[in-house]
Amino acid sequence: MPVTLLGATEIRRLAAELDVTPTKKLGQNFVVDANSVRRIVQVAGVTASDRVVEIGPGLGSLTLAILETGATVTAVEIDHRLAARLAETAAAHGVPSGALTVVDADALRVTELPGDPEVLVANLPYNVSVPVLLHFLETFPALQRGVVMVQAEVGERMAAGPGSKIYGAPSVKAAWYGSWRLAGNVSRQVFWPVPNVDSVLVAFILDSEPRGTEEERRRTFAIVDAAFQQRRKMLRQALAGVVGTTAAEASALLQSAGVAPTARGEELGVEDYLRIARISVS
Ligand code: SAM
Repeated sequence: MPVTLLGATEIRRLAAELDVTPTKKLGQNFVVDANSVRRIVQVAGVTASDRVVEIGPGLGSLTLAILETGATVTAVEIDHRLAARLAETAAAHGVPSGALTVVDADALRVTELPGDPEVLVANLPYNVSVPVLLHFLETFPALQRGVVMVQAEVGERMAAGPGSKIYGAPSVKAAWYGSWRLAGNVSRQVFWPVPNVDSVLVAFILDSEPRGTEEERRRTFAIVDAAFQQRRKMLRQALAGVVGTTAAEASALLQSAGVAPTARGEELGVEDYLRIARISVS
């Protein structure tokens, strides 16, 4: 029996049955258009042999599109009512038993995932999209690639490179884990309820080896946060107190890392930040 997708009418009926009124707090904007969920799965290049993790499956529209390829899915949902219903929806839509595992949990707190997924596909809850994504990249090293749908400004930022106006801490942190690219816009009209922001797809391929140790990552991220908190300041000022205790100390340290003390945070790439982190502890 082939897997069938959810239609707009069925999504609303399911929500009513479960007494779910979509909330902003949980970023509950459900995709009600089959073409859109199929497109996300296509961009992610999901095939039957893939083990996929989905964050926030909601009523299951994207989940079913992933399962339609024959892949297996581990789906992490915080809303108990939605998590409790997902397996039944999947079975009613032709999903073979064993293909879907539902984890009823806050994705920000998950530390173990059944199925050892290597692909992440999600229409992320907007209010926690960056922290939840970084948490997964950090916690699950078996992940190799993925596609997420996020608010346009957030996606553009994650895919931005040094020198661009929108390049910021999330861009450097994302680059720590791999390479990112914008993979298309998504109309507001495919959601229920219709959000008041635009969305984009962002595709990523993760590096096969970690860029540095966990200690180096923490230190790099702390330096990145400091650099972008005062993005108009030169690095020797923005980092005084983070690397060294004064602007003069920060200046000397930056120089020995091969970075101009007068540069601004937005000019540096992730490797520059890592060099500063390494030198500042040695
Ligand atoms: N995947 C579904 C779709 O495309 O229609 C729903 C996407 S909706 C934008 C985000 C989903 O994430 C909601 O189902 C919401 O309940 C869930 N969610 C919100 N915060 C979460 C968290 N911290 N952990 C896991 N799921 C969360």
